[in-house]
Amino acid sequence: MTTAQPVPQSTYAARVRQYYQQHYPDRAPLAFVRTFGCQQNVSDSEHMKGLLAEMGFGFTETPDEADFILFNTCAVREHAADRVFGNVGALKHLKTRRPDVLIAVCGCMVQQEHVAEKFRQSYPFVGLVFGTHVIHRLPELMAEALHSGRQVTVAPQQDGEIHEDVPVRRDGTFKAWLPIMYGCNNFCTYCVVPYVRGRERSRDPEHILAEARRLVAEGYKEITLLGQNVNSYGRGADHGVDFAGLLRLLDQIDGDFTLRFMTSHPKDATPALFDTIAACKKVSHHFHLPFQSGNDRVLAAMNRHYTREKYLSLVRYARAVIPDISFTSDVIVGFPGETREEFEDTLSLVREVGFTSLFTFIYSPRRGTPAASLPDPISAEEKVHWLQELTALQEQISARRLSAFVGTAQRALIETAADGYLEARLPENSVVRVPGDATLVGRRAVVQIDDARSWIMTGQILSVED
Ligand code: SAH
Ligand code: SF4
Repeated sequence: MTTAQPVPQSTYAARVRQYYQQHYPDRAPLAFVRTFGCQQNVSDSEHMKGLLAEMGFGFTETPDEADFILFNTCAVREHAADRVFGNVGALKHLKTRRPDVLIAVCGCMVQQEHVAEKFRQSYPFVGLVFGTHVIHRLPELMAEALHSGRQVTVAPQQDGEIHEDVPVRRDGTFKAWLPIMYGCNNFCTYCVVPYVRGRERSRDPEHILAEARRLVAEGYKEITLLGQNVNSYGRGADHGVDFAGLLRLLDQIDGDFTLRFMTSHPKDATPALFDTIAACKKVSHHFHLPFQSGNDRVLAAMNRHYTREKYLSLVRYARAVIPDISFTSDVIVGFPGETREEFEDTLSLVREVGFTSLFTFIYSPRRGTPAASLPDPISAEEKVHWLQELTALQEQISARRLSAFVGTAQRALIETAADGYLEARLPENSVVRVPGDATLVGRRAVVQIDDARSWIMTGQILSVED
């Protein structure tokens, strides 16, 4: 795919900077950015923060202090959308008290026409409404909103181009998100993502490699490649690099770092990809491979294009070539028409695979998707029971898996600190809690594992690296 020329936004950025200098000559303006949803949204927000920093903004965690408030929204489930309406609605009083504050809502939710319309009609205090495809135009949109004083809305667009060279201000100092592709072509019947994120488009490998090299040079220890379906990276592009090829190229970058990636679709995960991972040195032996359902009729109704047996055979192959590989997954409980017997196939698949952990979701109807018009006779209470059964089963499996680490020493990346404890992540994605000093966050350590509960292990640091 050819990469679109970046839209020159510097003139607008200068106008925004000038606006705030005139209004607040003694201080830098402050932005509050709140992100809902997946890592792609987190990455988009990091790019919008990069643009805001270029416009002279500092950042605050307190909306009350902010001159610019941005909500980057998620449309995947109703619950996430409801939280956005609640959070944005609560800002009405702030806008009355401080009319100068500019409130913006962007991302997947406002890519849905009915939601964009609701913000236009019922949330006039929101100054700026724009979707996922125009985040690179933030300076232009802000300049327009600030100077017109009217609500600026960008109509939802179906397809986006790739804009390289949008600045980025990363939240992390040792873990980085690196988008390799955008959009989704799969149209799983329950899912709104293809409608709000548009068709698949892949970044050129040289841009990805250049960004990865920069991250390694800056000292990032873990790089997570992002895409809705990373296995279809490069499809339709003329550079001839597929996902396995991209992993091989990235693996050759010199330096001490780990590569992770998400998300993979089982229909495009191949034995050759697992062979590649087995041969790479820097690719983590953790694979997030959502199976959604363990029943073939439900999988077909979901338009997933694989069977239970195909999924299980992939897991078997992967374990044969990468014995310490760890699988995590996403599951939907209560897809319309799913019967108790069909749900039991999900339970048996979970037992058979032995996942490290699971993200479990109750089916949430999304307007405009095919599944939303299917009959759905199972009650909400019943679905909650099923979900509880599934999570209880997974807790037992996680506990069993984690107990196998007790008494061993493992290499782990120290990610967070709270109350005198550190949390460190093993390559296979489980977490161990150890006593230690907050200054160790971002370093790798060898950790002795002493005990294991369902989700977390405890232990102590034996040695710190780097
Ligand atoms: N592209 C990724 C992730 C998509 S959204 C993938 O295909 O795996 C993340 C997860 O949300 C999905 O894997 C699915 O389990 C869940 N999800 C998506 N739409 C949903 C819906 N309508 N109701 C409940 N869960 C949903
Ligand atoms: Fe949604 Fe399916 Fe695309 Fe994932 S692969 S984003 S679940 S349509």
